[in-house]
Amino acid sequence: MQLYSTNNPSFKVELKEAVMQSLAPDKGLYMPEVIPVLDKDFIENIENYSFQEIAYTVSKKLIGDYIPDADLQNIVKSAIDFPAPVHMLSENIGALELWHGPSLAFKDFGARFMAALMSYFIKNENQNTTILVATSGDTGGAVAAGFYKTPGIEVIILYPSGKVSDLQEKQLTTLGENITAVEIEGTFDDCQALVKEAFLDNELNKKYHLSSANSINIARLIPQSFYYFEAYKQVKKFGKEIVFSVPSGNFGNLTAGLLAKRMGLPVKRFIAATNINKIVPEYLSSGIYNPKPSQATISNAMDVGNPSNFVRILDLYNKDFVAISKDVSGFWLDDNETKEAMKEAYQKYRYICDPHGAIGYKSLHNLDANEIGLFLETAHPAKFLDTVESTLDIKIEIPEGLASIADKTKQAIKMESDFQSFKSYLLLR
Ligand SMILES: *Cc1c(COP(=O)(O)O)cnc(C)c1O
Repeated sequence: MQLYSTNNPSFKVELKEAVMQSLAPDKGLYMPEVIPVLDKDFIENIENYSFQEIAYTVSKKLIGDYIPDADLQNIVKSAIDFPAPVHMLSENIGALELWHGPSLAFKDFGARFMAALMSYFIKNENQNTTILVATSGDTGGAVAAGFYKTPGIEVIILYPSGKVSDLQEKQLTTLGENITAVEIEGTFDDCQALVKEAFLDNELNKKYHLSSANSINIARLIPQSFYYFEAYKQVKKFGKEIVFSVPSGNFGNLTAGLLAKRMGLPVKRFIAATNINKIVPEYLSSGIYNPKPSQATISNAMDVGNPSNFVRILDLYNKDFVAISKDVSGFWLDDNETKEAMKEAYQKYRYICDPHGAIGYKSLHNLDANEIGLFLETAHPAKFLDTVESTLDIKIEIPEGLASIADKTKQAIKMESDFQSFKSYLLLR
């Protein structure tokens, strides 16, 4: 499987390089050179396949013979080991629940698949790989759980002190083993800057075999296409045209949906649902892409002012605005409207949405009669406990995984946000 850089289509690498490098040397994002179409037979009989079989079929089609079948099967089995159920709220609206994994957010799919793929690629290398990752919250927990106890891989997670929720912090700091948390006195941007500088540092690169687990890694995108097929399988029986509404920040999730459609999944259209960081909805109505600094909201995993995967969407459509806007429309809500949407879903259907999913839910308000709308419920509502409980005036049950880490002791290395401290720490480890 060859991939090219969005900045230079003639620069190509194999899958292993794309996964281990994450970003192309020219700072482009990797895209598959060929997007194959799945057999009609598979799509027509998809209800006969388990989720793991679907994941294997889709990844095999994309990856081809680059990874032997038995190995690819093992990778899929270890990564996709929890379900993605559709919960119907009404006859024509359903929630595709993507939070049944260990960190209770959809990022588990990407993080686990990337972990399995990376450990496969490095299994014959004698040096450990050290993964540096900066997180604003959800990514860190998913990456920590995904790589936990993976042989040959050490993970160092940088997070901004006091700027992630208590439960998110526990998810990063209580595992131990091969996972180290570094608490930075600064912002998420500071954490990201430290990681970037470390990758460019000669001394560090001599001591460590460094890699990154950030959200633009192609290994995170591929598995996110699997659950669009899994969702289709569950609602095919209704015989309606399918609309996916995708709560979006960096737009990896939506890009994976567009990839699934390109691979032959029958989807009528997509909705790009955001909070007031509405750069892409504005682009979809005006044709003008105008990135801005992000603004804080209650759906904080979508507080992104310059979505990193937007270039992949442009690339997928050869920058053809008309073609993009045929497949994707925009929708956005501010915080008050998001809370109203949460209340509406609860009052009408007794369904508890997290703030991100609630925006997806509301964007399905004007479906055609022949359409069925699925919104991606990207996180368990308990991850946003305060907002959900105060908005709905209820107490919600905390899933066992989250409840048990609440009592565990935090272990983090506290550090100023300056590169020399970070570098000396890494050199002395
Ligand atoms: C990361 C995240 C999103 C945004 O997903 P993108 O792929 O970055 O668009 C939405 N909701 C939740 C809960 C998330 O953690």
